[in-house]
Amino acid sequence: MSQNIVVIGGGPAGIEASRRLRDLGYTPLLVEKEPVLGGHLARWDRLFPDGVEARSVLEPMLQDLDGIKYFTDTEISSINRLKDTWVVKFSNGLSAQVRAILMTTGFDLFKAEKKEEYGYGIYERVITNADLEAWFKSGAAPQFDHVHTIGFVHCVGSRDEKAGNRQCSKVCCVTAVKQACEFKEKFPETTVYCFYMDLRMFGRKFEDLYLKAQKEYGIRFVRGRVSEVSEDIDGHLFVKAEDTLFGKPMKIKMDMLVLMAGMTPAADTQELSRMVNILPGEDGFFQPQSLVSNPCTSSREGIFFAGTATGPKTLPETLSEAGAAALAIDRYLKTPLK
Ligand SMILES: Cc1cc2nc3c(=O)[nH]c(=O)nc-3n(C[C@H](O)[C@H](O)[C@H](O)COP(=O)(O)OP(=O)(O)OC[C@H]3O[C@@H](n4cnc5c(N)ncnc54)[C@H](O)[C@@H]3O)c2cc1C
Ligand code: SF4
Repeated sequence: MSQNIVVIGGGPAGIEASRRLRDLGYTPLLVEKEPVLGGHLARWDRLFPDGVEARSVLEPMLQDLDGIKYFTDTEISSINRLKDTWVVKFSNGLSAQVRAILMTTGFDLFKAEKKEEYGYGIYERVITNADLEAWFKSGAAPQFDHVHTIGFVHCVGSRDEKAGNRQCSKVCCVTAVKQACEFKEKFPETTVYCFYMDLRMFGRKFEDLYLKAQKEYGIRFVRGRVSEVSEDIDGHLFVKAEDTLFGKPMKIKMDMLVLMAGMTPAADTQELSRMVNILPGEDGFFQPQSLVSNPCTSSREGIFFAGTATGPKTLPETLSEAGAAALAIDRYLKTPLK
């Protein structure tokens, strides 16, 4: 095969890096294990902070794949070092011998059913941020009649030692505020609560969105963790929490609860790390040489990273890093072999 770089993972990072490598004159081979390219971006409806449609970002990327060979529904069977190259075998029976591999395997959403106290998978009216995006995207009629009160629970499976993830997932505060506003736009009569530990509205225009959520949409922000969720005979939820700013316990009847599930390392990170003989970080994400000055380079010759494979990132951060990874690979391939 004439491809000279294998890119593993066809989400935004993998697609963008492949396009940049193509523009630099290379012939990347992009490998995606799902039936379609697009990663998580293909599942989102509208993006923070401005509410642009996710498909308006993804579609132009997918229409610009000339010169990039890609496999979908394909996994990596093995990777072995041969002199100065890597030999990659795929589940479709083909293989490639390349000098560089870019890992863009992204993240997995935290499995919300692991936090049993919230009742995901048990109570029908408890859903995740990803379920709500899917619902918005489908444009379907409301799942449940009469949603008078809805709650958003931040930090589900993030900043949580017991859940095995100490890290902040970075994007879920702003996603909660965005989804809360969207819900209020669709159903203005609904009372909307956000239960948070801290609000991490770090990006440009994020704070504006938060102020709008309070002032224009009347969203009620409660600082405190939800401790328990139960269900009555009609399927309505009772949500127990403590408002830590006012030091008072709360028990609120709700019609829906949305869990802001965080980002965890992609399932195959361990296996791919083993194949190329590198150690993932303590948090389970791929470990670059330096999170500050070398975020795309690994400790092994010819192995590179981009996007959320190395930790939580927004889409613009992911796309910029994909461009940086393409340049790092270009520099590596132009360096004469010793
Ligand atoms: C609920 C939620 C909402 C979000 N909303 C926004 C938003 O509004 N704006 C924004 O800027 N960011 C948003 N983000 C963040 C955004 O989704 C990520 O920045 C982006 O998806 C990262 O792209 P990626 O390519 O790194 O990873 P992914 O999107 O996870 O793509 C990785 C791809 O690799 C594939 N893969 C994994 N393992 C293998 C393997 N072994 N072999 C082959 N393929 C493999 C996967 O199937 C997937 O297609 C949101 C995140 C969440 C959790
Ligand atoms: S971004 Fe917000 S909701 Fe997500 S883990 Fe960090 S603090 Fe929690």
